[in-house]
Amino acid sequence: MYDFVVIKYSEIGTKGKNRRIFESKLMNNIVLQLNHKVSAKKIYGRIIVTPKENEKIDESLLNSLKKVFGIKSISPAIQVKKDYEDIKNKIIWLLKEKKIERGTFKIVARRTDKTFPIRSFDLNKNLGADILNEFSELKVDVHKPNYLIRVEIRQELSFIYFENIECFAGYPVGAGGKASIMLSGGIDSPVAAWTMMKRGLKLNAISFYSPPSNNEKTITKLLELSKRLSEFYPFNFYHYIIPFTNVQLAIKNLKAESYSLILQRRSMLRIASVLAKHTKSTALITGENLGQVASQTLENMISISKATDMLILRPLIGYEKLEIVKKAQEIGTYDISIWPYKDSCVAFLPKSPATKSFPNKMKKLETKIENFSELELDALNNSLVYVIKNGKIIENYIFSEKEVIDYE
Ligand code: ATP
Ligand code: MG
Repeated sequence: MYDFVVIKYSEIGTKGKNRRIFESKLMNNIVLQLNHKVSAKKIYGRIIVTPKENEKIDESLLNSLKKVFGIKSISPAIQVKKDYEDIKNKIIWLLKEKKIERGTFKIVARRTDKTFPIRSFDLNKNLGADILNEFSELKVDVHKPNYLIRVEIRQELSFIYFENIECFAGYPVGAGGKASIMLSGGIDSPVAAWTMMKRGLKLNAISFYSPPSNNEKTITKLLELSKRLSEFYPFNFYHYIIPFTNVQLAIKNLKAESYSLILQRRSMLRIASVLAKHTKSTALITGENLGQVASQTLENMISISKATDMLILRPLIGYEKLEIVKKAQEIGTYDISIWPYKDSCVAFLPKSPATKSFPNKMKKLETKIENFSELELDALNNSLVYVIKNGKIIENYIFSEKEVIDYE
């Protein structure tokens, strides 16, 4: 039915050169995220997305477009000639196709091509009158119409459309650098990942698990989460799943149970920092949220973050749990996050974790573990790497098969 999709994007904060970069990144991401099923071109202030031969504008194509960050709204549209009769006939045809025969409407015409002889005001009036003539049960309502019929007469191209489907806005992925998300199987970290992706960050995911006690199901769950996230991502999404059992055993042997959670988190951050340098990430992202659990008191957050000098982003720090749950439902990660499989083995979690801790004390405890950094690097070198694109795993290997980090 439709010829192309008209894309509107936010122009706020993107002026001059930045705006051109924004637009070209957005066009590029649209094509990549829709697997080259469409082409994208810019006309002034809009992007026009046209399906390639053998492709059509259907629910699935629109759903994929909705997930491209940087897009404010999408409108499936019909091309018209710069000719009054053609515009009128196509509006009438589209109304009939969509079975819109009763209710109220308003015409909103916009003429940026001043060589077209009819002014917007007259277009609104004349088209309105012709539609009233054609459909006896349609009425005009300029304040709260059921249907807004938009006509845009532009230099490059003219078109009509009825819908403005709101999208997530944000920045095109890749407009803002690269970071690694610490992805557990919980509700929060996938939402944190999504939030920062939407701010234009490229991401990869890092997860820790405890083989052999939580192997397959945990990995499946983690991968389902990253597959879901990859639907919002135009590039290959790398997910590093790191076996953590040996590190956890070493920490357990310290017999400082109440600190074991903090020590584990510090170790996760150290390993993630080494990997981040390797993947050229400049920040780590967590799903931490103030006060939810013992590891998330301010004191413990300090002890944990002192394990690395990397910037740690905590986009959910001040959110209500209910808000996070709502967002997780909206982006489709919630149903996966509530699967019962734990990210890393509960046997290593303290019964009553300390709510207060001191970085120096943590450091001292860590020096008691022999070859601790080798143990950590060994975990990294044994990690499973999955490469995911548009919801599908396209490659997987063990880290050391391809990308080795040497012990210093
Ligand atoms: P989530 O819902 O994301 O699991 P949470 O409220 O359960 O968060 P914690 O379990 O304390 O909180 O974890 C805080 C953050 O630490 C997580 O959001 C995640 O970023 C990171 N994290 C925790 N466990 C792991 C893990 N096994 N692998 C990778 N990151 C982890
Ligand atoms: Mg958790």
